[in-house]
Amino acid sequence: MTQRTRAALYLRVSTTRQEEGYSLETQEAGCRAYAAQHGLDVDEAHVYQEVFTGVELWERPQLTRLREAIHRQQIDAVICYAIDRLARDPVHLGVVLSEADHKGVRVEFVTEAIDDTPEGQLIRFVRGYAAKVEHEKIRERSLRGKRARALSGKLLAGGSSLYGYDLDRENGVRTINPSEAAIVREIFRAYVTDGVAMNDIARRLNARGLPSPTAHKRVYADARTPTWRQATIRNILLHEAYIGESYAWKWQTVSRNKAPVLRRREEWIALPKDTTPPLIDRATWEAAQRKIETNRGEHARNRERPALLRGLIFCAVCGRRMWVDWYHKRLYYRCPAKTLTGERCGGVIVQAKPVEEAAWAHVVACIRDPQLIERELMAATPQLDQQVIAEIETINRRLSQVVRGQERLLARYSESESVPWELIEREVARAEDEKARLRADLVQLEARRAGHNIARRQIGSLTAWCERVTANLDAMTFDERRRTLEVLALRVFASGFEYDFRLDPQVF
Ligand SMILES: [Zn+2]
Repeated sequence: MTQRTRAALYLRVSTTRQEEGYSLETQEAGCRAYAAQHGLDVDEAHVYQEVFTGVELWERPQLTRLREAIHRQQIDAVICYAIDRLARDPVHLGVVLSEADHKGVRVEFVTEAIDDTPEGQLIRFVRGYAAKVEHEKIRERSLRGKRARALSGKLLAGGSSLYGYDLDRENGVRTINPSEAAIVREIFRAYVTDGVAMNDIARRLNARGLPSPTAHKRVYADARTPTWRQATIRNILLHEAYIGESYAWKWQTVSRNKAPVLRRREEWIALPKDTTPPLIDRATWEAAQRKIETNRGEHARNRERPALLRGLIFCAVCGRRMWVDWYHKRLYYRCPAKTLTGERCGGVIVQAKPVEEAAWAHVVACIRDPQLIERELMAATPQLDQQVIAEIETINRRLSQVVRGQERLLARYSESESVPWELIEREVARAEDEKARLRADLVQLEARRAGHNIARRQIGSLTAWCERVTANLDAMTFDERRRTLEVLALRVFASGFEYDFRLDPQVF
């Protein structure tokens, strides 16, 4: 049993001129044909014909009615002829698409399948972006309250207590927990004065059967008791609260399933001096920091570093996505041709460090001078346009040939009675069919051209993005760099020490 899918049609023309050559009739016919083809039932009460006057969303009364219908879930789908019929402004498009997504209403475009074309990517991007903005807004509202409390000089009421202290939630201050405070002092003494390794300190505390700081906070599914670990010791040694410094707004919740991350130091909010009574003297605490810092360097040198270009680097010879590989503690990118096919493609293994440096330098140069990206994009779109224009010309030529052929037939008929009328009739009908097909092709091509125009309009917002990012370029963490490369859709084609970089941010 299939359920009926109620579809609305949204058609729009401009009053100033018949934009891009699609009339209301063309749009309506296209949408109805699409509905029939895809098993959607057009709900006649929800056919919206807009004669466009204003620029803003609310200046389009029919679109407002359609949005109401979406909101009330009176329809299951919206059919629109082309993306720019629904909205030319990507922000407006985002608003409508996310409202529809939210209500489970499908939005479909007759001339543009949401696939891997630039327009499809644009739609996906806009949808994702709008959803993200909405999520950010909700998060921001709940954070504002917490921040206000921190600024008023109180520890967060919802915060967890720190080992060595109890939390006086009412007054927003810490008080000393004598038995835990003794352990904190012991840990500092063992690490700084006696030179015991963090691992060993943890082991000794476990041997004594002391509950770890998380013992009463975390519940494990397998009823395991949390124990002291190297990281537990390390966190205690690093904590500034033990010398009486208190901060709020230190930790940021990224997502429900991930551990919170430390905010940047500048964002922390210092709380009044009497918020936390000190347990350790400053000299001992600072000695501990220096010792940890020294050990950190060794630790980092031994650890495998992440691959910046993972998934973004391709073999310049065969085009395959390269694999990340380690030889003698060094990171490389390698073409998988040999592994996959048993035969080498001729591409040379790529050392990670130089190619990553070159790639990042390329991206930085582009962001500092967004015109570089603009030029790359502009260089690509006219070619597409040329191609489309050439196809349009070909079709127009064929159309006039068909029309001339029809005229010749009719002329022949009027000249001599020897040609039977049935034959003429059939030929004329055939020509009419072909004309209809050609006109449909033309409509498709015009829509593609409109899509290119949309892509080009995104360049403005790309430039604005670049300006925002420029200030942070040098301080970016690995993850931020990764995200930047992904936003700009960097592709590296490499072999040995030969690199070619391409940016393709048409989804902006
Ligand atoms: Zn290859």
